[in-house]
Amino acid sequence: SLMITDECINCDVCEPECPNGAISPGEEIYVIDPSLCTECVGHFDEPQCQQVCPVDCIPLDPEREETRDALMEKYQRIVAAG
Ligand code: SF4
Ligand code: SF4
Repeated sequence: SLMITDECINCDVCEPECPNGAISPGEEIYVIDPSLCTECVGHFDEPQCQQVCPVDCIPLDPEREETRDALMEKYQRIVAAG
């Protein structure tokens, strides 16, 4: 999963780009739900939120490293859940 750091300026550019609906406005800054972030695996070659963030504040979450297979499984679970 990716994460949003406190450098977020709440511009709302990333939220509509997420194919999994994983991004939402949090209490202070935007947040990513790690149970929904597939790092865009299943949809795109590159994380779409990272592509559009004007301040580059969406790194990989070092505490939630996942293999490509695990991300693909997450994608398939999300699709199955509708
Ligand atoms: Fe959504 Fe993709 Fe960003 Fe994860 S990497 S939050 S799935 S846009
Ligand atoms: Fe925050 Fe970047 Fe998303 Fe804008 S695009 S809301 S700065 S994480």
